Amino acid sequence: MTNPLLDFSGLPRFSAIRPEHVEPAMQVLLAEGRAAVEALSARAEPTWEAFVEPLDDANERVSRAWGQVSHLNAVLNSPALRDAYNAALPKVTQYFAEQGQDPRLHAGFKALAAAPGFASLPPSRHRYIENQLRDFRLGGAELPPDEKARFLAIQEELAGLSSRFQDNLLDATNAFALYIKDRNALSGLPQDDVARAAEEAARDGRTGWKLTLQPPCYTAVMQYADHHGLREDIYRANATRASGLGDPRWNNDALIRRMLELRLEEARLLGYSSYAEVSLASKMAADPAAVIAFLEDLSRRVRPYAERDIEALRRFAREELNLADLRASDIAYVTEKQRQRRHAFSDEEVKRYFPEEAVLGGLFGLIERLYGVTVRAASAELYHPDVRFFELVDRSGALVGQFYLDLYAREHKRGGAWMQNTIHRRRRAGRLQTPVAFLTCNFSAPVGDGPALFTHREVRTLFHECGHGLHHLLTRIEDLGTSGINGVEWDAVELPSQFMENFIWEWDVVAAMTRHVETGERIPRSLFDRLLAAKNLNSSIQFIRQVEIALFDMRLHSAGFDPATGDVLALLADVRREVAVYRMPEYDRFPNQFPHVFAGGYAAGYYSYKWAEVLSADAFGAFEQAGVLDARTGERFRDEVLARGGSRPALDSFVAFRGRPPQIDALLRHNGMTA
Ligand code: ZN
Repeated sequence: MTNPLLDFSGLPRFSAIRPEHVEPAMQVLLAEGRAAVEALSARAEPTWEAFVEPLDDANERVSRAWGQVSHLNAVLNSPALRDAYNAALPKVTQYFAEQGQDPRLHAGFKALAAAPGFASLPPSRHRYIENQLRDFRLGGAELPPDEKARFLAIQEELAGLSSRFQDNLLDATNAFALYIKDRNALSGLPQDDVARAAEEAARDGRTGWKLTLQPPCYTAVMQYADHHGLREDIYRANATRASGLGDPRWNNDALIRRMLELRLEEARLLGYSSYAEVSLASKMAADPAAVIAFLEDLSRRVRPYAERDIEALRRFAREELNLADLRASDIAYVTEKQRQRRHAFSDEEVKRYFPEEAVLGGLFGLIERLYGVTVRAASAELYHPDVRFFELVDRSGALVGQFYLDLYAREHKRGGAWMQNTIHRRRRAGRLQTPVAFLTCNFSAPVGDGPALFTHREVRTLFHECGHGLHHLLTRIEDLGTSGINGVEWDAVELPSQFMENFIWEWDVVAAMTRHVETGERIPRSLFDRLLAAKNLNSSIQFIRQVEIALFDMRLHSAGFDPATGDVLALLADVRREVAVYRMPEYDRFPNQFPHVFAGGYAAGYYSYKWAEVLSADAFGAFEQAGVLDARTGERFRDEVLARGGSRPALDSFVAFRGRPPQIDALLRHNGMTA
């Protein structure tokens, strides 16, 4: 076997995978998958063993190979790989869309649900069959033939548009560079960021400093650059990416409109009046009205705090910084100055206490304490020298799962942070397969010989993604369709991740993961206390911004907005008038850079972050009551939430752990928003 993408004997063979392997591997796997469906369809009586498992086998191989390709495309993008990915993408999309409409498979699942044994199946299988029947309906399986063909064409076109949206955004981000010749223009920027900018200029054969829109550089400029005009320039470059105000090659305007039209057409084919209804059919929230009411309720509760905080920020900018007019491009900078003034520390100071090894040691120690599994370094083929590999073992020494950790930002790597699963826990023919995940971040790489130093915000991101990873890795479900995150409602998926973030505000946890890069000392309690005091500084402004984005997404996909005639930017302006506490510049093109909704899976689903935050804050409330490092509570959280995967509704798992339905109070309390 020469194609490494066809080798399923173990971990991905990253050192052997080349762009030219993509097309032939996917061709073989898709053909095998189709042959498996043909063979199944010829059988008379479907059973779990003879119908679901062979189908899972075929689709698992397609997903595993394609998962490796899409991961590499995201983290090691090259023209050749991008071409190979984009060439195969419509075929893979078509393959899954076809199954979603296959009347023979649909009949098979209906027969399984009608069989006498259905009621007594274990929850992991029972729920999977129910989810399949729902997805068949949402996948167009019940449509007449001509509408089915149209439905399939819509899926393909949408997948291509999503991919182009993401490529445009990446290209527009990478194309931007601002070369600075005068060191004074960089006044205020931390030394590490200045050094990195000099390294990047040198790499381009230039003298001076190179500023980019890559997250570490962009964030540093927005937060620290004293030069008002420089902040505005970088902010504007970022806020106009992939829009009509930038290079026309990467303008996402037409893609957005087309996607909204196609989504509405899809919804109508399925008998819904809006795409929001399609989105919610498989989520925990009941309907669009329930979500809008939830967001409007949050807005009402939070807005008074946000108005108070923005007013204090304006006053501070005017009185202390001589900034008469607080612009959107000033908010991060003024907040940082306000934090330094009020709480007398900077992120840069705090960062010296969070070198990579100490942070990982603290995180892994926490996981061991709460969930009884040890995380240790292990070896595997890696796709880049910066990537690390770890395994989780339980108390008996048995392997629980493994993960790749890709921490640093670099060129040709998609921005943001995410967890992608690649192998699922599954028992097949008596053999247990353990899960594997990719955890990807975009933190500052080490400068010179020193270790990587993380801001507290970056530590939070790491904990967040690790929460997703644990949901995938600590599952005890052994059927593919409900193992780990599979089958979990979208709006509950962020529960374990946001839950993990709470620990970075706990002294015992933070003390154990700090070691000053020069002195080796732990973070002083007084500095931690100031960090904590500053935690909610202007958090209401972030909070209300998230509510605004969620409401925009929901209205954009609801019955009130007609994509053929509606104006996306005008809708955003309407939502802002209602919710936002500060004005955005005219040039802001936020929708053009909103991959969650136009290249992710969050269309009419962005509210999920806040929805799940209610769940995660309330779950953490149980730890606050028992002691945050309480191993018994950790064990119960693992058993009732993390281990269950999609084998039962997320609400049932929550209630089993908490003993009652979720309440909103803990979230507001954690954000310092209680009367
Ligand atoms: Zn997340």
